[in-house]
Amino acid sequence: MGHFSITCRNCGKSFENAYCAFGEHCKDALLVTRYREKPFADDRGEGIWRFNWLPVHTPYFEQSGPLVYKTEGLCEDLGLENLYIAFNGYWPERGAELQTCTFKEFEAAVVLQNAYENGIRGLIVASAGNTARAFSHLSATTGFPVILVVPRMCLMEMWYLESASSIPTLVVSDGDYADTIDVAKRIAAVSELPFEGGVKNIAKRDGLGVVLLEAVSRIGKLPDHYFQAVGSGTGAIGVWEMAERFLQDGRFGSRLPVLHLAQNLPFAPMVKAWERGSRELFAEDLRPDLIGEITTRVLSTRYPAYSVKGGVYDALAATAGKMYGINNDAVFAAITTFAEAEGIDIVPAAGVAVAALRKAVNARLIQKKETVLLNITGGGEERLSTEKKTHDVEPRFISKRISANEIEELLCHILKTN
Ligand SMILES: [Zn+2]
Repeated sequence: MGHFSITCRNCGKSFENAYCAFGEHCKDALLVTRYREKPFADDRGEGIWRFNWLPVHTPYFEQSGPLVYKTEGLCEDLGLENLYIAFNGYWPERGAELQTCTFKEFEAAVVLQNAYENGIRGLIVASAGNTARAFSHLSATTGFPVILVVPRMCLMEMWYLESASSIPTLVVSDGDYADTIDVAKRIAAVSELPFEGGVKNIAKRDGLGVVLLEAVSRIGKLPDHYFQAVGSGTGAIGVWEMAERFLQDGRFGSRLPVLHLAQNLPFAPMVKAWERGSRELFAEDLRPDLIGEITTRVLSTRYPAYSVKGGVYDALAATAGKMYGINNDAVFAAITTFAEAEGIDIVPAAGVAVAALRKAVNARLIQKKETVLLNITGGGEERLSTEKKTHDVEPRFISKRISANEIEELLCHILKTN
């Protein structure tokens, strides 16, 4: 028996086989990890591996965690007294060492380790951008094979570290993120390497939940409020699930942090649905032309984990959460404010979260003394570019209509050259 089991959010049935980490039991319901150790521990290793609530046993590579610090710059600006920033990116003199500059690195690390321990020898990963960068980096540093599939529209925001430039990256030239996921699943079927599973993979959500583990380890208690920009919502769900574990532990607070989640207008399907009290997204809010107007392509998924049981809708409902729509001007303003107040650059998606925090403060949704955790999901890219060599992705373009035969040929070619 391992140190965790997996439970279906719908029917409550439990499983011991960790391989089901990639799937589902009841249709449209997430599986969630139940760790046998109820008390939280942060003394089990180095970096993110020091936490006991991760679905891994003996990690074979190092992975540093987020930088969590109490800020003064932005605090003063917003009139808050206990504002903590979880900075996920590259800011070496402060101890932030993520060279891919994104919190998706925790997701990739935990997913790869979990897959490896379950006898899986490679993964097909679909991504709107920064997840691909994280997986390519981890694949390069660990030797664990991955094949990445990304939509063309995200290509201009993609870059790899020099070490990762050989990781195979297939670019769907005529489709969006949703098409990319479909293609990735078809490639998985032909290649016999599994699709990483998206939000259904428990290792993804627990990996992203590392942000809350690090924060509680640093602050000593659960925050009252949590701010994050959301695309698929996977990270926010992961944080909610971790918060539930802290409540069961009992030593870190008795109330779930209020989730304050934000999207970039005009493409904000979850904001629109939540404002109307709907568990279902509306087709008119998912129009592809809206995606063309936002500045944060990494938040552009048209299949977010919103309606699914145990997803974003349930997370918001459980925490009395709020959603914010942020326009491009507010995103740019927030990026500037943050750089001036904190002294480091952040990515547009993180600017969405900063702008949401300002909106919440202006609407008096937060008391001055309450503890707030702001998840800066990516930052330090400009800083990194002054020090390290980065490369544009070398794409292999494919069509969303690629046939099984063509996939087979392509895989042959990839395996030969890598
Ligand atoms: Zn079930």
